[in-house]
Amino acid sequence: MGEHRDPLNGLDAEQRAAVCAPRGPVCVLAGAGTGKTRTITRRIAQLVRTGHVAPGQVLAVTFTARAAGELRTRLRDLAVGGVQARTFHAAALRQLRYFWPRVVGGQSWPLLEHKPRLVGQAAQRAGAATGADDVRDFAGEIEWAKANLISPVQYPAAVAAARRQPPAPVAQVAAVYAVYEELKNRNQLLDFDDILLHTAAAVEGHPDVAQEFRDRYRCFVIDEYQDVTPLQQRVLDAWLGGRDDLTVVGDANQTIYSFAGATPRFLLEFSRRFPDGVTVRLHRDYRSTPQVVSLANRVISSARGRPAGARLPLEGQQPAGPEPAFTEHDDELAEAGAVAASIEQLLREGVPPAQIAVLYRVNAQSQAYEQALDALGIPVQVRGGERFFHRLEVRSAIRALRAAATAATLESAAGLGANVRAVLARHGLTAQPPAGSAARTRWESLRALAELADDLAASIPLADLGQFVAELDARADAAHPPAVQGVTLASLHSAKGLEWDAVFLVGLADGTLPIQYADGDQAALEEERRLLYVGVTRARRWLALSWALTRSPGGRPSRQRSRFLHGLAPVTAGRSYAGRT
Ligand code: ATP
Ligand code: MG
Repeated sequence: MGEHRDPLNGLDAEQRAAVCAPRGPVCVLAGAGTGKTRTITRRIAQLVRTGHVAPGQVLAVTFTARAAGELRTRLRDLAVGGVQARTFHAAALRQLRYFWPRVVGGQSWPLLEHKPRLVGQAAQRAGAATGADDVRDFAGEIEWAKANLISPVQYPAAVAAARRQPPAPVAQVAAVYAVYEELKNRNQLLDFDDILLHTAAAVEGHPDVAQEFRDRYRCFVIDEYQDVTPLQQRVLDAWLGGRDDLTVVGDANQTIYSFAGATPRFLLEFSRRFPDGVTVRLHRDYRSTPQVVSLANRVISSARGRPAGARLPLEGQQPAGPEPAFTEHDDELAEAGAVAASIEQLLREGVPPAQIAVLYRVNAQSQAYEQALDALGIPVQVRGGERFFHRLEVRSAIRALRAAATAATLESAAGLGANVRAVLARHGLTAQPPAGSAARTRWESLRALAELADDLAASIPLADLGQFVAELDARADAAHPPAVQGVTLASLHSAKGLEWDAVFLVGLADGTLPIQYADGDQAALEEERRLLYVGVTRARRWLALSWALTRSPGGRPSRQRSRFLHGLAPVTAGRSYAGRT
């Protein structure tokens, strides 16, 4: 919501320059919260509205299913339906399924479902270790190699050239990789990277496929371009086929997937590749208070390396807010309890739960927060947790809505929201939330569906139940759940591109952020610093940073706060409440 139907409304001069640039290469290079994502949705709307391109000819690509769903929602609010907004993988998978019969023949090979199992088998045959950690390490190396278009044979030389520290002897990793590919091909299975590889190959090697594809898609838009891999870039180049109708936006200082082969190189070299393109830099931060922006600027100002060179200090545009709080705790339990108590206080002050997030470095940290919030009866939504459209109550509610849509007689003139609520009332949507955590979670799912109906009615006033069910199907397809009223628990990596009124960055101890294995590796440390920058810049108004000196109550205090907080958090012994004045 909140987008305006006039694509030029609510844009500053630089954003407008990017939105109004003629068809052709456009690059927006800017920091967090400066409106990059807003700019690309508006640019698409503007190109469509001025008749430069038909909605169906636009392919908008981003890096998570959720972000793709967000793009689709914003475009619909701008009254531009029919634009394809997908992740690289989802876009490529569709194309591959379509072209496969012509290129390979028969049905497209199915996706490999149990990758660790196959990597484990490969490790065993190659005579390598097969423990769960070893298998994960091998899988990570294989992904890195494939993302960089490196074959098993090329792997040893590529590792040396990249000065990469492989988790096992190079020859062994190369052997596991080779056996893995062989097993996979023999079983006629595809992994995620194969989808991209085969798609690029189909377009590159088959002029008729390329022609058909290029007739279909004319205009490409990529969000979060700093995290593109060489493999994804190859797919993009195949799509373009020498054309230059390409808009990219990104922030090199938010590169957080280098470990998986992502590189800001393509973003930073865009204007060299397209010297006649339009490059726009944005520096006004519309998301966060000047207090949050100032901390973000300080976090990233110590960054070193290439992405750092492309940085502009952000200027906060929002009214002033509270100073970010830094808090040290004796142990993790105390930290989680204190965070839950602060969240309860915010809820009491009227901040909606969906506007609050707890962000951590590794997923294992979420449990302590789930428990602490549960103890206070606060609903949560764990990102990457149980999938919304798979929940029992959601599935039966959608069945009921579908039945009601077919029996159109049931639809009253009261409007979509009221009609949806009438159906959901029979499935437990009461006016007031029930007591008890499980019942409350089910109730929040139903409420999320009802509020989605309100959203749809707001952007399409005469929407009926049939359209609503179609919207639900499209979202289920794209794994794009509606916003459930609950405090978000998410990893820093999955928080990219998102924003909340209040953000708690927890577990900021050395060894967790930066994570232990980054120690001694300058490039890995820089990526950890960028993760903190991504975390800080998710907050609109309230930002709290915390860490604990030990894991369990009574343990020996063996930890220190993150080194990235030196010079930012006041130096204290024991507890400190900075900025709580
Ligand atoms: P990130 O780097 O985190 O992905 P971004 O550059 O994509 O951030 P957006 O998410 O597009 O930033 O915008 C940040 C917030 O600022 C959003 O809430 C957006 O609606 C708002 N915003 C962007 N541009 C303007 C503007 N010109 N006026 C008012 N609000 C704006
Ligand atoms: Mg964005």
